[in-house]
Amino acid sequence: MTAPLGVALLGSTGSIGTSTLRVLDRHRDRFRPVALTANGRVSELAAQVAEWSPAFVGVVSGTPPLGSGWRSGPECLIEAATRPDADIVLNAVVGAAGLQATLAALAAGKRVALANKETLVVAGPVVMAAASAGNGTLVPVDSEHSAILQCLAGRTTADIRRLVITASGGPFRTWTSERIPSATIADALNHPTWSMGSKITVDSATLANKALEVIEAHYLFGVPYDRIDVVVHPQSIVHSFVEFTDGSVLAQLGVPSMELPILYALTHPERLPDSGVPRFDPLTAGSLLFEPVRHEAFPALGLGIAAGRAGGAAPAVFNAANEEAVAAFLAGRLSFGQIAQRIAGALDDLAVRPGSTLEELLEADAEARRHVHSRLSC
Ligand code: NAD
Ligand code: MG
Repeated sequence: MTAPLGVALLGSTGSIGTSTLRVLDRHRDRFRPVALTANGRVSELAAQVAEWSPAFVGVVSGTPPLGSGWRSGPECLIEAATRPDADIVLNAVVGAAGLQATLAALAAGKRVALANKETLVVAGPVVMAAASAGNGTLVPVDSEHSAILQCLAGRTTADIRRLVITASGGPFRTWTSERIPSATIADALNHPTWSMGSKITVDSATLANKALEVIEAHYLFGVPYDRIDVVVHPQSIVHSFVEFTDGSVLAQLGVPSMELPILYALTHPERLPDSGVPRFDPLTAGSLLFEPVRHEAFPALGLGIAAGRAGGAAPAVFNAANEEAVAAFLAGRLSFGQIAQRIAGALDDLAVRPGSTLEELLEADAEARRHVHSRLSC
């Protein structure tokens, strides 16, 4: 038996972070967390540290317990991601804050299990170049992209005719276009099939999450935007489809749990026996429905896909404006309908900024955040 692989888990206190620790708990012979990081939530992090005794602990903001030896500040993500004892970096940070750690981990030759999709949206070309330049590899955790990776099973982009990414449709799937803009915070956080952190839950209600995922798929699999479609599938059982050039279509199915895609990102291309993840039963699943996206009711999706197609700084502007608008919505400072309006405003003013280097993309990100902030009423 070989020694367990070291896992640096960035964002350990979040939804993906805690699901990852549940997965690692079942496979203590294969994996051990060597680094845990969080943003605040010091007592939750302390409880994880007491259970797992990682060699490295980092807290991005917040005060480490006295004498704990924990690192603090945003640089702790990069320290954790580049540690020699980390074979795998599972990036479960939310937002563009995860980008530098992904780049550092790839440069250090790590396997990056990427939940932090914003990394690829802000700087897809830079991240993919970092992945192909060094010995690092990038494996998606996002369930749709894990599904696509599993369906591809080693086939290349040349074999793909089309990707079809499924979307649950979120809590407002059946709401009228007139009613959605005045949805409350509680309405938006009431996701029908997935239990997730608050930012991605709001993204799933606006369908901005699906735009982030289309851009993520474009970079991960090298498929042009006109060959990536989105279909609404309320049961969240089919996690995505791949249509091949010969017309054959493969899909990956499972109950809506992130534990399988997390585990697969750790073991790809291998599969573990006795994974312990929830089993799928077609009879329990029953009928599976597929519906077109109602673009007029969910304008953030089209805005994001257009930003992806435009390339350059536009995806970074889309992502940053969305992050800030969602934070303002959750703070009660914007209505639900204003989220897409503020994204559209930022894209109108900033999308054509230069965006070919990391510095330019980070500047576009910062500019888009200022754009949304400056338009918030006090
Ligand atoms: P979450 O809010 O539950 O957790 C986020 C984690 O990141 C926490 O540990 C938090 O302390 C940390 N964090 C927050 N801000 C940070 C910052 N500025 N710097 C460093 N660390 C920070 O979020 P989540 O639902 O676990 O999502 C994490 C990522 O995974 C997101 O990119 C999300 O889109 C993606 N994702 C989540 C799910 C899911 O089921 N939750 C599914 C697919 C993809
Ligand atoms: Mg997803």
